[in-house]
Amino acid sequence: MRKNTNGRRGGQVASSDPRRRYQARHRAMGLCTVCPRPLAKGSIVFCEWHRQKNRLRKRRLRGPILCRRCRKPLAGTGQLRGRRYHRLCLRALRVEREQSPHYRELHASAARAYQVRHATMGLCTQCPRPVVPGKHVCEEHLRYRQDRYQRLKTVNRGPRDFRSNVSRSGPPDRRKAQGSYM
Ligand SMILES: [Zn+2]
Ligand SMILES: [Zn+2]
Ligand SMILES: [Zn+2]
Repeated sequence: MRKNTNGRRGGQVASSDPRRRYQARHRAMGLCTVCPRPLAKGSIVFCEWHRQKNRLRKRRLRGPILCRRCRKPLAGTGQLRGRRYHRLCLRALRVEREQSPHYRELHASAARAYQVRHATMGLCTQCPRPVVPGKHVCEEHLRYRQDRYQRLKTVNRGPRDFRSNVSRSGPPDRRKAQGSYM
């Protein structure tokens, strides 16, 4: 987008470029900006014929866009929005990625590094808030852990079966804390 577009739609542009003047005049009259035909319905730039022409040109330039996962072409709207995967393919890909041993290892080592880094700086190991003195976590995470412990205890009579279906409200959001990174 150009910055200096004020008044272009009103057609009051005193441009030195004859083509720009032509476009502005035509736009003001509700005509195609390339030829004297009326604007296509829903368009503020082209008549039906030029709209079609422009579309074809764009498509030819780009060629069909293939999904990077299944290698089948993407449907029209997907192409226009710059998508590179089918929605379902992208979802499947994410799941595959997250379940791969490589990803898990990466994630685990990044989490460990995060905890070590935060511990040396005196911050919560789960988020960038300062720790409660004598603990490894901040006030909110401490409360969350205590709550969870209590809940598990009352539901399961003992914290060992922590994988059974306990109602889950997530841990405090790390991103809401100030100075967040990672
Ligand atoms: Zn036209
Ligand atoms: Zn696909
Ligand atoms: Zn925390």
